[in-house]
Amino acid sequence: MASSWDRHNASSLAKLQDRLVGEQVRHAVGPFSPYWKRRLTELGTTPSAIDSVASLATIPAAGERDISPHGDPAGMAALVLQSTETGFAMHASGPALRRALRLRLTDKAAYQSVIEQDTKPTTYVWTGLGFRYPVASSRADLDIVARTGARLWQVLGLTADDALLAALPAGTTTEHVALSYAAMASGAPALFPGDRVADLVASARLAPPTVLAAPVRRAVEVISAIVDGGGHTRLRTVLLVGAPADAERAAAREALGGAAADVLAVHAPTGARVLWGECRQAGQAGGFHTYPDVEVVQLIDPETGAASADGGEVVLTQLGMRGSALLRWRTGDVTAGRIDSSQCPGCKRTVPRITALRRAALVLVSQDGHALDLRSVAGAMAGRADLDDWRVVVGGRRRDGRAQVIVHLAPTGDPGEAVVGAAADIRTLAGVLPSQLVVGEPDEVAGLAGEPLTRRILLRS
Ligand SMILES: [Zn+2]
Repeated sequence: MASSWDRHNASSLAKLQDRLVGEQVRHAVGPFSPYWKRRLTELGTTPSAIDSVASLATIPAAGERDISPHGDPAGMAALVLQSTETGFAMHASGPALRRALRLRLTDKAAYQSVIEQDTKPTTYVWTGLGFRYPVASSRADLDIVARTGARLWQVLGLTADDALLAALPAGTTTEHVALSYAAMASGAPALFPGDRVADLVASARLAPPTVLAAPVRRAVEVISAIVDGGGHTRLRTVLLVGAPADAERAAAREALGGAAADVLAVHAPTGARVLWGECRQAGQAGGFHTYPDVEVVQLIDPETGAASADGGEVVLTQLGMRGSALLRWRTGDVTAGRIDSSQCPGCKRTVPRITALRRAALVLVSQDGHALDLRSVAGAMAGRADLDDWRVVVGGRRRDGRAQVIVHLAPTGDPGEAVVGAAADIRTLAGVLPSQLVVGEPDEVAGLAGEPLTRRILLRS
């Protein structure tokens, strides 16, 4: 019997992912993604050369600013696979192709529908860090989302007897679609009344949920209201949607008061179409459980883009997905840990797991909606010959806790010219300017005495 998705040993997991990476690049992304078709040529490689997880890691990761430098959502269409009938016949996998060819002889319309089910984008979710853009899915992709949703339900320790109340804003987001498909595929009832507190309290009274899902930022408000309204009588699980910080987790627990519910996190990095979850047995310590036959999760150094084994930005490659098939996608999420594929101490699954994740840490969005992509800032700094050294420091402003970005520069020549030049580059690449550009030796810069600048992004909590 073939290994179950979550019980592979290290060598069968590696073999499976190598095969799936090869198929995805050779038959889907390579030939049909306008962006990647061009990019692989530029890189002097071919789709067939990318036939393993290791060779995948040689491709420079790309994020939204690489695909659409000016933040125009229409530019993201370059990621959507554009397959033709001939292309499908050349690149479909064995069983799908045989079925399609058989149908072509007998039933032209059915043949067309096989192709469309596999490749035609029919559904979109909105995602993005610095700007919002749609991610496309085909019918077949939605099957994967549903199948993965059923797994998520199991990882979370939920059953068909659970009933979900989701406090997610109305609208098609990855979280909304993935959570509703997860409940549907598990045969569990689910209510999505929107995110207005009064509606949520009324829903919880009408049908007391066993599972409450709330975005991290709204969790305390929503949990408190449900508890106050008496809608928590059956509650045994709270899902914090988005990777919560320790303080956010603790606040959610506190808001539960005496209610005995487990608090678990679910999270979809930007661009993802499935939700990761923490298992019931290990909770936060076990990390987010990923799906090794649906994605390859890798880490890179966010400044240099080089592969990293220990800590860095999470990079996602989707396997078996069509629509906006993402390859080496920079999620903006950062982890201080590594991707751990050892057996989970809680549920014993052997799937890659990620702990200590900071969501969207590399892109800051101000209250007026302007985004500062730190990766672009780092890119602007790295390319300048008039800088000896630089450092980007991100931290909360003491006055009101709002994010503040300070770029420290050590110029080789005239400081004034270096600042003007760096500012112009940052504005071009990142779209906005950081809070401050400071020129000076490290020991002249407050709080950094004695520390070298060391060309990096420093996240201060
Ligand atoms: Zn586990």
